[in-house]
Amino acid sequence: MKIARIDTHSVKVPYTFGGDHKGEGLRTWTTNNILLVRVETDNGIVGWGEAFCYACTDAVRAAIHNMIAPIAIGQDARDIARLSYDLQQKLHLFGRYGITIFALSGLDIALWDIAGKAAGLPLHRLLGGAGRDKLPAYASLLKYRDPEKVAARTKLAVDEGYRHVKLHETEEPEVKAARLAVGNDIAIMVDTNCPWTPEQARHMTLKLRQYDLYWLEEPIFPPEDFTAIARLREGTGVPMAAGENNCTSFQFRDMFAAGAVDYAQPSVTKVGGVTEFLKVANLADAAGVTLMPHSPYFGPGFLATLHLLAAHGGPGGMIERYHLDLEASLYGELVMPVDGGFVVPTGPGLGRDPDPDVLKTFGA
Ligand SMILES: [Mg+2]
Repeated sequence: MKIARIDTHSVKVPYTFGGDHKGEGLRTWTTNNILLVRVETDNGIVGWGEAFCYACTDAVRAAIHNMIAPIAIGQDARDIARLSYDLQQKLHLFGRYGITIFALSGLDIALWDIAGKAAGLPLHRLLGGAGRDKLPAYASLLKYRDPEKVAARTKLAVDEGYRHVKLHETEEPEVKAARLAVGNDIAIMVDTNCPWTPEQARHMTLKLRQYDLYWLEEPIFPPEDFTAIARLREGTGVPMAAGENNCTSFQFRDMFAAGAVDYAQPSVTKVGGVTEFLKVANLADAAGVTLMPHSPYFGPGFLATLHLLAAHGGPGGMIERYHLDLEASLYGELVMPVDGGFVVPTGPGLGRDPDPDVLKTFGA
């Protein structure tokens, strides 16, 4: 079963989130952008993957067609782990993290979809899981920079059934507003996206500590300064989460060795797909760190994360669901929460193919 063809489909779906789409440069998004990777084998099986893109769709797309496809086409579609290694080695001079690995991730997810379809099994079964048909989740709020809006959205998420809510805010008034809005029984996480120096992070973490954070995410720039995060964690006692910007399992190894985090956040569309995610999950288990996937996605990356968490034997772990409303969904109800959780797809591979009408209408 050889890889015969690799295509990409860019989809940009408008969304609302109860705030305005004001941002800074590349962070101003009015659409949810998904770069789908469609892989077809010589015996006619089609798999779908997702490569991280947000604001870099064109670059990742070029990487898939110009760097990944020439090496992958003609290779055995079943030999996924070797192909991942081979691509990483052959392409390392173009960067071990970022565009190259995003592109590779898209291919890898598609190949696992194909593997599941070829075996007639949903991906989580293929990976050794069978006992979980529903997964807990948390609402991942977008950035509002407005305490009133943050309070209202946090409350809305709780009313919808979520017991864990993550804010993307960097100021105290917003965090305070969320805590006051929902009381002490709801877990609140704060994702800061690497804004601070170690000293600023210490100052802010001590300020936020009174709000009983379930975790503080990526407080320090650069994200790979694991020693600084470890020092912050040790010095403040606030649980730390990170990993969405880590370069493959090797950087997770270093992050765990530094004692930097309580929660490991591999991102299947960024870290190297299912293959690399599985390596990270094993390392996290061995390090006693809870696996907490990064999955603010609505394409194959979201479905892959559902399967990976369903197949994971360790405790803990929740699905991250962006708290926004899309104009259309590639997967219908599969991306909609049920009592604050998500149903694990049961069809072969990722469990469902993207809706062709949505691909067509929102193709960009
Ligand atoms: Mg994050």
